[in-house]
Amino acid sequence: MAKITLARAERIAKAHACEHCGEYSYKKLTVKPRLKADRSELKEAWHAVKVCGVCGLQQEMGIDDEGEIVFVN
Ligand SMILES: [Zn+2]
Repeated sequence: MAKITLARAERIAKAHACEHCGEYSYKKLTVKPRLKADRSELKEAWHAVKVCGVCGLQQEMGIDDEGEIVFVN
């Protein structure tokens, strides 16, 4: 069970700068509960998909129960 709320997961995702250009402007940000099948290795609780508003890079991010970022693609 996720300990942190969706709103908090969204804030964490927004607070992470674009890996490509370092901006914090996102034209699209979607945060969903992690898929059950994805639970095996990573401690992902929330799965964020972000599209940078500056360079257009799409990034996927996993956030765990404690609000830590467990991966960024
Ligand atoms: Zn960018």
